[in-house]
This record gives sequence, C-alpha cells and structure tokens, in this order.
Amino acid sequence: MQFDLTDEQSLLVSTIRRFVETELIPLEDEVEAAGALDPAKARAIFEKSRTLGFYAMNIPGQYGGGGLSAVDTMLAEEQFGHTTDILVRRAFGNVYESLLEGDAEQKARWLLPCVRGERTCSIAITEPHAGSDAAGIRTSAAKRGGGYVLNGGKHFISDGLHSDFFIVSAVTDPAARPRHVSLFLVDKDLPGVLVGRDQPMMGLAGTSHVELFFEDVKLGPGHLLGGEGRGLEIAYSTLGRVRLGQVGARAIGKASRLATMMTGHANERVQFGKPIGEFQMIQQMIADSVIEINAARLMLLRAAWEIDRGRDARDWISMVKIEAAETLGRVADRAVQVFGGMGYCAALPVERLYRDARIFRIFDGTSEIHRTVVARSALRRGAPMWDIGAA
Ligand SMILES: Cc1cc2nc3c(=O)[nH]c(=O)nc-3n(C[C@H](O)[C@H](O)[C@H](O)COP(=O)(O)OP(=O)(O)OC[C@H]3O[C@@H](n4cnc5c(N)ncnc54)[C@H](O)[C@@H]3O)c2cc1C
Repeated sequence: MQFDLTDEQSLLVSTIRRFVETELIPLEDEVEAAGALDPAKARAIFEKSRTLGFYAMNIPGQYGGGGLSAVDTMLAEEQFGHTTDILVRRAFGNVYESLLEGDAEQKARWLLPCVRGERTCSIAITEPHAGSDAAGIRTSAAKRGGGYVLNGGKHFISDGLHSDFFIVSAVTDPAARPRHVSLFLVDKDLPGVLVGRDQPMMGLAGTSHVELFFEDVKLGPGHLLGGEGRGLEIAYSTLGRVRLGQVGARAIGKASRLATMMTGHANERVQFGKPIGEFQMIQQMIADSVIEINAARLMLLRAAWEIDRGRDARDWISMVKIEAAETLGRVADRAVQVFGGMGYCAALPVERLYRDARIFRIFDGTSEIHRTVVARSALRRGAPMWDIGAA
C-alpha cells in the first residue's frame, strides 16, 4: 500500500490545476453575471484544453480519448471540481461512457464525434413523475416496422440546450416484469423531438437544465443502445464511474477549494486583536473540514482502485457519492460561517459555491437512495463491507 503519486500523476494534477486556475476560474464571475458562457470563450478553452490532451480523458485511447485509469480520472476530476460545471463541460468534455456500449457503427456515429469535441450529449432519464424510481418512467418506445416510435418526456436534463443528442431511457415492453427499460440514442434534430423550457436552478449558472418532449419520434434499430431491456443495467454500470468522477471527485475538489479559502481568511481576518484562526470555534470548523475532505478522498481513490481491478465497485461508488456530497455541504456551510457576512455576500465566490454545493446531494441519485443501496448490500453481504479482514 502506498499513497505517493507517481511522477506522471503529479504532472497530471499540477498541469490541470494550473489550467483551471489560469484559464477557467477567471471566467467564473462573468458566467455567473451573464448566466451563460460566451461561445467564443467556450471555443477558446476547448481548443486550449484539447491541445494539452485534457479533453475526454476518461475515454479509452483507442477511441481518441485520454485513456486514463479510474484512479487517474479521479485525480483529474478532483481538479475539475475546483471550478464551475459549465466551464468543466466545455473545457474537458462530458463524454458518457455509456456510449462505449454501442456497436462499431454507433461508436462511429455518436461516440467518436463527442471525443473529438464536435458533438455533445446529455443523459435523459428523469421524468416529472419518475426521478429516484428510474424504472417508473412513462416514456415509451413502441416497436413499429423493425424500429421504434418514441413518445413521452423528460426534465432537468443538464446541458440540454447545447447537446446535439440525448441518451434517452424508455419502456420497450410495458407488460414485462421487471419493467423493460432500454436506452436510445436520439438526435435533437429528429422530427418530433422538442426542447422545452430551460428550468431555472438555485446554482450551476451557465448550464441549462431542460424539459424534453418526444412526439412520435421514429427511431431505427440502430438507435437502440446495448440491447432491449438492458437500459437500467447499462445506466447503473456505466454511469457509476461518471458518478464517482463528476459527483464524488468534483465535490471533493470544491470542498478543497473552500477549505483553502477558509484557512486563508482565518489567518488574515483580525477581530478582538487577533486572527480569527486563533479562536477555537473557528479551528474546529477548519479541523472538521480537513478531516472530512481527506476521509472522502481516501474512499474515492479506493473506489477507483476497485474499478481499475475490474471489480464491482457499486457499493463503494454509493458510499463515495454520499460521503463526498455531504462533506461538500458541511464544508460549504462552514466556509460561509468563517467568512461571516462576506460569506453571504455575492461579492465573494463562497456564496456561489455554497449554492452550487447543494445539488450534489440530489442529482445522480439522492443521498437517501444511495443509503438504501449501501444498507441493502450491508444486510446481504455483511462484514466484508466494513471489516478489513473478513472474507
Ligand atoms: C440541477 C439538476 C441536474 C440534473 N441533471 C439530470 C440529467 O442530466 N439527467 C437526468 O436524467 N436527470 C437529471 N437530474 C435529475 C436528478 O437526477 C433527480 O432530481 C434525482 O434523481 C431525484 O429525483 P427527483 O427530483 O424526482 O426526486 P424524488 O425521486 O421525487 O425524491 C424526492 C425525495 O424523496 C426521497 N426518496 C425517494 N425515494 C425514496 C426511497 N425509496 N427511500 C427514501 N427516500 C426516498 C428522495 O431521496 C428525495 O429526498 C437533474 C436534477 C437537477 C436538479
């Protein structure tokens, strides 16, 4: 067991950190004020990142991606987490590993253009009446003439205004038990695909979250991703690593940025003739934040290590999703407190980071749903889930 980063990993972390600090963080205020990222600036950060080999790093090298291991992806994702969602999407890409499930033709049509940054994709699973219960969706893909006809709707689809196509979950056999949910590759410009409102959110300025409507959308058999009835299985297996990176690692990155701001302020801000960092109640908030960030990161890297060994890491992923998201929530809350009134004031990024932090406990499976996964597994598997010596 060793915890040192290799020279390559150190270089990966330091170069991405520098890129985030010099190219992305300076754009945050503008995105927040405008509610959007200027397309010319989006193009510029994409070009620079791509030249440095930072785009689509999670996708295997044979498809033109960076081919990073899960551990290295998490190291990169933690650095991405220091800045806002929209800047990360445009600079580093958001290529879903679910697209690796496609056959050669599907990969050529949908995966490869995403890896090259020519097209973008969103994942569309949630519906107004079916969020946590992903099998309870009403969107249907009825078989017709060798293909399918898609009807229904989705909401809260991240980056939907910008995306060129969607990975959509739909019921293919309403009579089957358990429900037959399948995934479809749906181009935005197909007749019958309608993008509805951009639903306003508490944070994540610059990223759209849209409603989608499907009215008799005709899909050929080549639009089905990974086989009929395999939708939830594919989603659970391929979105796991995404969840670990985009939620777990990025939450830790954000918490880490907030801890840096918090300690800097505690050293500088003087009240009653001394830096506030000398007051024990401020120290407790700092100590708890540092302890929790390190605990969450160790768990994150353990989960990634399990993935790199080809093991089923779903329990670890759920544990990390909870631990990292809730650590971020607590750290963001303490950061506001340590900054006092300035923590609540929109002049500093603490206020925005606090709002952006809240969603981490909700999207990609709520804390409650992931706790259910962990508890069920613990009841079934017993001690090997927590006892290091248990077989
Ligand atoms: C900003 C944002 C971005 C999003 N991006 C996407 C996206 O790109 N694609 C996409 O498909 N979806 C997306 N979502 C949807 C997101 O994944 C869902 O909001 C989330 O899964 C929760 O579903 P829900 O909102 O319907 O809440 P509900 O499922 O209605 O849950 C409400 C409450 O009930 C609790 N609950 C539900 N079931 C149980 C249970 N069995 N036991 C205990 N408690 C339970 C939940 O934990 C929660 O506290 C996004 C949402 C937001 C807000």
